[in-house]
Amino acid sequence: MPAYFRGALVTGEKLLGLYFALSFFFIARATLHWEWVPAVMLVIVALSAFNADQHGPRLSIGIFAAVILGWCAWYVYILGWGTGIQGLLVPLLVLIFFNIFNPPWVKIVFFLLLLGVRMLLYSYSLSHSAVYELDRGFSVLFQTANSAVMFFLMAIICIYLSSSIQDAERQLRLDNQALYREAGTDPLTQLPNRRALMDEIDSFMKERPSETFCVAIADIDFFKKVNDTYGHLCGDYTLKSLAERFRQTAGTGYKVCRWGGEEFCFFMPGMNIDDAGKVMMDLNVAVGRMPLNFEGTDFSITITAGVEEYDFHSAIDAIIEEADRKLYMGKESGRNRVVV
Ligand code: GH3
Ligand code: MG
Ligand code: MG
Repeated sequence: MPAYFRGALVTGEKLLGLYFALSFFFIARATLHWEWVPAVMLVIVALSAFNADQHGPRLSIGIFAAVILGWCAWYVYILGWGTGIQGLLVPLLVLIFFNIFNPPWVKIVFFLLLLGVRMLLYSYSLSHSAVYELDRGFSVLFQTANSAVMFFLMAIICIYLSSSIQDAERQLRLDNQALYREAGTDPLTQLPNRRALMDEIDSFMKERPSETFCVAIADIDFFKKVNDTYGHLCGDYTLKSLAERFRQTAGTGYKVCRWGGEEFCFFMPGMNIDDAGKVMMDLNVAVGRMPLNFEGTDFSITITAGVEEYDFHSAIDAIIEEADRKLYMGKESGRNRVVV
């Protein structure tokens, strides 16, 4: 059962206990000689609240329902219909409905049962007069206590439920954000993936349509050889190290993603081709000097890159394709270079 349900039940039973204690004094003051009934009810709800707190609400909800039904029946028998005791059936109905783990048929059966009990008590009160006729003062007192306990019970149930809905919504939002981040992240390098970078470029083009930008595609040279010579794990280590190197300088004006395999795509908002070419050349030199060591073996890698500037009319795919074509040219002409 949901946690809010236990909270609502335990707090509701504590309130009901207070109400029985008050009823004990009221009934004693009215000299009805029935004060043992609220005293017994008080003990039962106290035990039931303790049980719900310790072992969960499964048994206690049954006790709670039995106490309210028994109390209402006894009350109508002794004091008649006029003190509004039947209102106590409503919080009970709401509590049963708010337990989302109750199957619909339980809720419907309970609904019909409570409706039946209410109609039965009413028809009983029509054909039988109450055992005691309360005077006006006590009648007002009993009526006030009954209305108060009903309203407070309703408030308790609603507070618990609404706070649980808010908690669930907040958790859902956080989970969604985490899922969204995960869906846009490459698991090996923890860089954004192709989809995340394309989203970024799309929103840049929509939000700042008059600003230029560049894209670059960089590819590790002879990466297959790294895998073949030192093993696939070393290849993974190389990709992670390279991603870390890119991440260190990414704050300075470019976004980088793992485009796929051993290729990385750079998005450089606001940069023309000269600026972007300079950034990529600096990176090319830095990568060539980057010390790599896997399981005691030193090695190094180089990258080749192609850079293209947005021309304000081509589709983004065409711009990236052009950067890719320049990358291919760089490979053809000897690798370890940047083609602008
Ligand atoms: P070139 O200079 O022409 O780019 O040569 P290359 O060897 O880098 O290119 P090729 O396309 O022949 O090989 C790329 C290799 O990258 C092949 C593939 O096994 C490896 N690779 C792709 N993704 C991963 C990965 O996630 N981990 C590892 N270890 N290797 C990968
Ligand atoms: Mg390669
Ligand atoms: Mg490649």
